[in-house]
Amino acid sequence: MGLLEGRTALIVGLANERSLAWGIAQAFAAEGATLAFSYAGPALERRVRPLAEQVGARFVEQCDVQRDAELDALFARFREQHDRLDVLVHAVAFARREELAGRFVDTSRDGFQLAMDVSVYSLVALTQRALPLFTGPNPSVLTLTYDGARRTYPNYNVMGVAKAALEAAVRYLARDLGPQNIRVNAISAGPVRTLASSGIRGFHWILDQVEERAPLRRNIAQADVGAAAVYLASDLARNVTGHTLYVDAGYHIVGAELGRAEREGEVR
Ligand code: NAP
Repeated sequence: MGLLEGRTALIVGLANERSLAWGIAQAFAAEGATLAFSYAGPALERRVRPLAEQVGARFVEQCDVQRDAELDALFARFREQHDRLDVLVHAVAFARREELAGRFVDTSRDGFQLAMDVSVYSLVALTQRALPLFTGPNPSVLTLTYDGARRTYPNYNVMGVAKAALEAAVRYLARDLGPQNIRVNAISAGPVRTLASSGIRGFHWILDQVEERAPLRRNIAQADVGAAAVYLASDLARNVTGHTLYVDAGYHIVGAELGRAEREGEVR
C-alpha cells in the first residue's frame, strides 16, 4: 500500500513537465494519492491538462492566486468533487524580470508588493480556504522555498526576501494550526531548470557552482523534491511541522570551498 493511499492532494502551481509541482505530482501518484491541480492562467491549460490526465486527476482548474474571487471559486469547485483535503501543495512564485536583475536596492514598491503577494501571501490565502477541508487524520500544507532566503544569490533579489518571509509564514502557520493537528512545512530545493528559474539571469552559473561545491557534488532533480514531499505529506512525518527541509545535495552547509584544482590535489 502506498504511503499516500486514500489521501487527496491539491497542487497549486503546475505549469509544465519541468515544474517542481510535476515532480511532486508524480511522486504522490506513485504513492496512491488522488490528485487535483490548479494552474495560473489560460495559456497554461493546454500543457497542464494532459499532465493531469497522466496521473488520473479529474480536478483541473484555473486560479490566479492574487484574486480572492478565483481562490473562493477554486475551493467551491473542489468541494463539489471532494469532501476532504489531505495535502495542500503551494508551488507558486513570481517576481518581475526587472526585479530579478541588477541590484536589490533598486526594487520598486509595486515590484516588492507583487513578489510578496504572489509568492508569500498566497500561501496564507490558500491555507485559510483549505482549513475547513482538513478533516482527515494527518492534514498538511507544503510550500517550496530556496536558499536565497538565507544567503544572497546574484539576481535573486526581491525573491530572496519573499522566500525569507515565506519560511517565516510556514513557522507562524505551523504554530497557529498545530493545535488542530495540521502540519505546515517547506522544502528548500536546490536549483532546477524550470520556467520560473529561467527568469533568473545567470542561473546556469548557480547550477555549475552547486555541482562543484555541494558536498554531494551534483545538482538535484525534480524527483528528489517529489520524494521529500511524499515524506512530509505522509504519516512518517506526523511529528514534523514548521520545518524547512533542504533538498540541495548539501549546498546550504558550505561556506568557503577550495578550488577544484586544490581539491583534486588533496584527494591524490
Ligand atoms: P514553474 O514551473 O514556473 O512554477 C511556478 C508556478 O507559479 C507557475 O505555474 C506560475 O504560473 C505560477 N504562478 C505565478 N504567478 C501566479 C499567480 N498569480 N497565480 C497562480 N500561479 C502563479 O517553476 P518552479 O521552479 O517549479 O517553481 C515552483 C516553486 O518552486 C516556486 O515557489 C519556486 O520559487 C520554487 N523553487 C524553485 C526552484 C528552482 O530552481 N526551480 C528552487 C527552489 C524553489 P505562470 O507560469 O503563469 O507564471
